[in-house]
Amino acid sequence: MAFLPFYVPGNKQLKIVIVGGGYAGIAAMTTLLRHMPEADITIVDPRSQHVKITHLHETFRYPLEDVLVPFSALERRFGCHHVCAELIPQESTLQQWQNDKRITLNDQTLEFDYLLIASGAAGKQVEPTENVIVLQDFMTSSGTEILNSRLDASDVDAQPISVIGGGATGIQFLFEIAHFLRRRKITSKLRLIDSGERVLKQFPEGFSSYTQTRMNDLGIDFHPDTLYRRQEGGEILLEEKESARQFALPSALSFLFLGKKPDNLLAANAFGQVLADHEPLQNIFTAGDCSSYHSYGSNTMTAQSAVRKGKLAARNILRHSGTLKFLEPYLHRDLGYVVNLGPTDAVGWLALEGNVVSGIPALVIKEVVAAQYDLLLTGIDTYLI
Ligand SMILES: Cc1cc2nc3c(=O)[nH]c(=O)nc-3n(C[C@H](O)[C@H](O)[C@H](O)COP(=O)(O)OP(=O)(O)OC[C@H]3O[C@@H](n4cnc5c(N)ncnc54)[C@H](O)[C@@H]3O)c2cc1C
Repeated sequence: MAFLPFYVPGNKQLKIVIVGGGYAGIAAMTTLLRHMPEADITIVDPRSQHVKITHLHETFRYPLEDVLVPFSALERRFGCHHVCAELIPQESTLQQWQNDKRITLNDQTLEFDYLLIASGAAGKQVEPTENVIVLQDFMTSSGTEILNSRLDASDVDAQPISVIGGGATGIQFLFEIAHFLRRRKITSKLRLIDSGERVLKQFPEGFSSYTQTRMNDLGIDFHPDTLYRRQEGGEILLEEKESARQFALPSALSFLFLGKKPDNLLAANAFGQVLADHEPLQNIFTAGDCSSYHSYGSNTMTAQSAVRKGKLAARNILRHSGTLKFLEPYLHRDLGYVVNLGPTDAVGWLALEGNVVSGIPALVIKEVVAAQYDLLLTGIDTYLI
């Protein structure tokens, strides 16, 4: 059993329910088991598989199965239980759960000593319409399957394809689609629509200039300061941000990557305990994209922060259950971020936001980070910070 500072275990075998088996939930589970191998852990998640979402855009090159880890496999590996259900935390129910130390799902009641809510953040809602593809579609079909089925079903070849959203997710998909079309010798023109004046605007300027040069090299059109209105039949309806002038362009398909909804986040104190009426609920913690910690640490919606918050929440659950009850504040600062630009290129920052890296060095960083998470999924924790 690994040593955990300020943790003097009590006698009890803890029952812990983790809502959401994504990056934060899995990081929490492996950390809990490292320090308390006999802990009784239940993961509540409506999916049947853990999805390595950070690799979803790569399914234009690899099978979807490569990014899925069935919860049944995690049950065998870690001895946890998976309950296939959805739990929506409401302000009013949180206090009730804290008092009762149990939750009810469908016809099942789960008792807990500690509850960890790590259910991620919802994407911005869009009306599902024909010829529109959203991130959710990639959870059940690979990029290759999605594009192939559209290409087979209609005369997409040679018609333009639109990608909406020049954030990290949109850009990673844009480049994978561009390379897919090249490999398949499909002559469709690719365009990117974004409401900002440059792509990757949450990152330093160097990200945008590098990425936009690569877009030019691949012949991708860029429409900055432009709002997506809708895709209708074979056209996309757009609006100029400044003038509100609307116009239509031919478009066989629209891929929408509009980002996540920053609302409905669970507020937490610096130790990861959920706040209800500004008071911490002692036995209910939160981590990952669904959480906003009131602390110096990073609240970015990234896998990096999700893993760090999940691990911290787990350590604090253990300490809270012990005799000292000395909890650790969340202080993690982002160490870097790398955006893939297709199979052979990437742009990112490392250590300091101004320290922009690109090409092979950026790809290597991405590979190392991915390998570290894959190791965690096998129970080997190599995270030093
Ligand atoms: C294409 C793409 C690439 C990305 N690349 C990077 C990257 O390179 N680096 C990086 O740091 N970040 C990246 N991110 C962001 C990163 O994936 C997220 O920040 C991370 O997944 C958040 O982890 P999480 O555990 O909070 O949520 P998630 O990983 O989204 O997991 C949430 C889990 O909760 C479950 N769930 C949802 N609602 C409920 C409910 N009501 N009840 C029970 N369970 C529920 C879901 O099924 C899911 O399993 C990328 C995101 C995308 C989409």
